[in-house]
Amino acid sequence: MSSQVSVNQGYNSQLPGSYPHLIPAKTLNPVSGQSNYGGSQTVSPLSNYQGPGQTLYRPPVASNPVTSSLPSVPVPRMPLPTSQNPAATPMPSGSFLPGANIQPPLNWQYNYPSTGSQINHCPRSSSQPTISGNTNLTSHQYVSSGDPSLQNNLTKSGIASNTNNGSMVVHNSYDEIEGGGFLVTLFLATPQYANKNPTMSRSVGYSYPSLPPGYQNTAPPSTTGMPPSSLNYSSGPQGFTQTPLGANHLTASMSGLSLHPEGLRVINLLQERNMLPSTPLQPPVPNLHEDIQKLNCNPELFRCTLTSIPQTQALLNKAKLPLGLLLHPFKDLVQLPVVTSSTIVRCRSCRTYINPFVNFLDQRRWKCNLCYRVNDVPEEFMYNPLTRVYGEPHRRPEVQNATIEFMAPSEYMLRPPQPPVYLFVFDVSHNAVETGYLNSVCQSLLDNLDLLPGNTRTKIGFITFDSTIHFYSLQEGLSQPQMLIVSDIEDVFIPMPENLLVNLNESKELVQDLLKTLPQMFTKTLETQSALGPALQAAFKLMSPTGGRMSVFQTQLPTLGVGALRPREEPNQRSSAKEIHLTPSTDFYKKLALDCSGQQVAVDLFLLSGQYSDLASLGCISRYSAGSVYYYPSYHHQQNPVQVQKLQKELQRYLTRKIGFEAVMRIRCTKGLSIHTFHGNFFVRSTDLLSLPNVNPDAGYAVQMSVEESLTDTQLVSFQSALLYTSSKGERRIRVHTLCLPVVSTLNEVFLGADVQAISGLLANMAVDRSVTASLSDARDALVNAVIDSLSAYHSSVLSSQQPGLMVPFSLRLFPLFVLALLKQKSFQTGTNARLDERIFAMCQVKNQPLVYLMLTTHPTLYRVDNLSDEGALNINDRTIPQPPILQLSVEKLSRDGAFLMDAGSVLMLWVGKNCGQNFLSQVLGVQNYALIPQTMTDLPELDTPESARIIAFISWLREQRPFFPILYVIRDESPMKANFLQNMVEDRTESALSYYEFLLHIQQQVNK
Ligand SMILES: [Zn+2]
Repeated sequence: MSSQVSVNQGYNSQLPGSYPHLIPAKTLNPVSGQSNYGGSQTVSPLSNYQGPGQTLYRPPVASNPVTSSLPSVPVPRMPLPTSQNPAATPMPSGSFLPGANIQPPLNWQYNYPSTGSQINHCPRSSSQPTISGNTNLTSHQYVSSGDPSLQNNLTKSGIASNTNNGSMVVHNSYDEIEGGGFLVTLFLATPQYANKNPTMSRSVGYSYPSLPPGYQNTAPPSTTGMPPSSLNYSSGPQGFTQTPLGANHLTASMSGLSLHPEGLRVINLLQERNMLPSTPLQPPVPNLHEDIQKLNCNPELFRCTLTSIPQTQALLNKAKLPLGLLLHPFKDLVQLPVVTSSTIVRCRSCRTYINPFVNFLDQRRWKCNLCYRVNDVPEEFMYNPLTRVYGEPHRRPEVQNATIEFMAPSEYMLRPPQPPVYLFVFDVSHNAVETGYLNSVCQSLLDNLDLLPGNTRTKIGFITFDSTIHFYSLQEGLSQPQMLIVSDIEDVFIPMPENLLVNLNESKELVQDLLKTLPQMFTKTLETQSALGPALQAAFKLMSPTGGRMSVFQTQLPTLGVGALRPREEPNQRSSAKEIHLTPSTDFYKKLALDCSGQQVAVDLFLLSGQYSDLASLGCISRYSAGSVYYYPSYHHQQNPVQVQKLQKELQRYLTRKIGFEAVMRIRCTKGLSIHTFHGNFFVRSTDLLSLPNVNPDAGYAVQMSVEESLTDTQLVSFQSALLYTSSKGERRIRVHTLCLPVVSTLNEVFLGADVQAISGLLANMAVDRSVTASLSDARDALVNAVIDSLSAYHSSVLSSQQPGLMVPFSLRLFPLFVLALLKQKSFQTGTNARLDERIFAMCQVKNQPLVYLMLTTHPTLYRVDNLSDEGALNINDRTIPQPPILQLSVEKLSRDGAFLMDAGSVLMLWVGKNCGQNFLSQVLGVQNYALIPQTMTDLPELDTPESARIIAFISWLREQRPFFPILYVIRDESPMKANFLQNMVEDRTESALSYYEFLLHIQQQVNK
């Protein structure tokens, strides 16, 4: 077998979303006659499809391939009512923690009908079931015969999906391709398998408990067997029983302690009030031998709440800390090793990809670090393409990089990789036209058309809607786009489906024509109704044959047809923590999202609305289809110019960033650990396989875990995420991240390894779910109890003597502060006039943002900026970027003679004190005195002064770091924005919330009870 392996470094770091484009720019045609459009009142050029109110002729059924139900896709049933769902046992309020309550799986896990013909529910023994319909099986060395009955099932469903709908074959069994793990969680959904094949679950040693494992009521923690309480860190390697890592010379010896002595300190928070570091908080480094740690996954991509994994669930329960992972799997990377090889080496048993933490027994055998199976090293893997040396498999890039990408061979495909397909759906009602958003969006699209990630197969299409739905024929050869109006919104059909999604390359001029014309077409419209639901149905039908990305722009509450919503926000109850509508009022959007997910369509929602639009309901369309939600409250092209700027910047990123299509992600972990609850935007397809019709580099995910079986026989555990996707160039790729962590046996070690940011992030995700399933006040209680319970555990089990004050391990010194910040975060705050949609949006962000941005919106960073210097500045290329120290979030840290910048993630606020020095006013703000600072100032002038250059460099640098565009507000004392600035002062008291010190006293009281 030839060894054709090449390794290249990944993407262009400058413009990660934009591959060099192959499409030559064409000369733009002059704008074609606008009179042909004229909004909903004008008859379109195509005589068959006239304006609203006219009879429309339905095209022959054959050209309208989509029926209202899509039998080729397993249609999920709604979850069982609570009473029938064993996992949904009502829980005691106010805690996330084990022993205190039982939490239902928070992501809706759909129970498929148990017909036995579901593709995704075939249990898997140690061998991989054959994929029916895949003619390349012979090239896949790991495919074994499997259970014949399973093959029958697969074949049956394969046929079903082919015959149900001739033009709609979208295979859905990526589960089989990516390969299942040994977690036999599938049995939960199909109990008949569990009964018929009891041995299967035994043979792999796993079965999914009927309750999420972390939340079973376990026996009360006993004090026997507790480690001696001690303040000294016991480094103790507990006798290395695992076979030492072989040829790659990794030793699991933990003698190389990486903990800084500072980390061993116990802190009395009531005495040491300022624990916030003046430089950005770094994630803790796992306590591993440096040979292992240097190969470990970057914490920006993959992080665990506990960097020392407790040996048993009992130990985890004692710590009262949540165990989970936070992932940013598709993050833009400057360097990404990409491997092209005809053989992707994976464990025969659990399908783990070979990684730096496997154990080479000798040159020919490697032991899986997740299930411990011994696997053969394939002949091809003996050759190292980097060194061109034969016989050193342990030096291969796959074994040297915790993050790596594989070009997937054909067995990872069920259909040819889909083309990049982009469909834009625009609200053109009177309300929408009033906001003037179409101008911005169309201009942005025109500017970025050549930068859309794609290739010669890229397709594009447009739909607009008000009370009717308008399609645009962009068929190559037309002299101008043709508008087709469908007014039957009860039973939407697609006129001329073949001309509505067109090849961007071939129809580029028509597309440009349309984009130039669209903003003017509806300027005189009087139509106020919004038939969003029917428009989404139409868009879904149009995209079903291919899959792709649907970008929906909506400016109001939908009022017509399916999915119409009613206002249900009661402004008087905004401040109450109870009785607010966090749950969707209809399941229409969720159901449609699941249909979309089944056809590999993701929906991104851009909500630009000044009024209540029921984001709790609308947001489901993105959440379950793996899309994103963007929200621009009070968008108006004249009255709110900063929102226009924000939308433009964010669209630029959105349109040009990298995109992965028809993706699935699976997270595996070492035998003994189990993953149970997933957070983020996706659909959980087969219990542990996340379906991501689109994946984008700005999305984060979280999972909760528990210790199912004692880990006493191992010193290291690993976690691996594998993301299988189709690139915009039509390649099937697999991105793999592997994280390795030590196992510990004492409570003190668990505490010392706690990652307080990851813990806070996971708790925030859990609290969003709790807000929805129970209530906001319940979620708030649970957050507070999370601090009290863990610190109580630390007090009673680790500290040797009772000491006055609030003693915390160094690792958790910011835990109370971050939880207090969460209580004051928009998602969970009370006593404010936060609009319901804004709260819901904040909750969407908690679930979908990578940890780094979640922490920034929760606990903003504050800097003094009127005295910036180059001392300690960063030098990037030719730029000097000042790095001022981070201040505590308290007015105590402000002074009237200074200026302070608060970075709250999506917004930057520059507060200028009344007595701020003349130098800053003139050299930075360009005004002669304080009174001349404009009431609304959202930009800093670029002045030819070093002071101006420094602050502008700093602000630009902050903005470059994130995929969204934070608006800058300059705030003087009388500004209305001052209240927002002060609201973010987490450590201070507000009308309805405790100050940090009061909060600490409260915690101390509870801990010492
Ligand atoms: Zn394995």
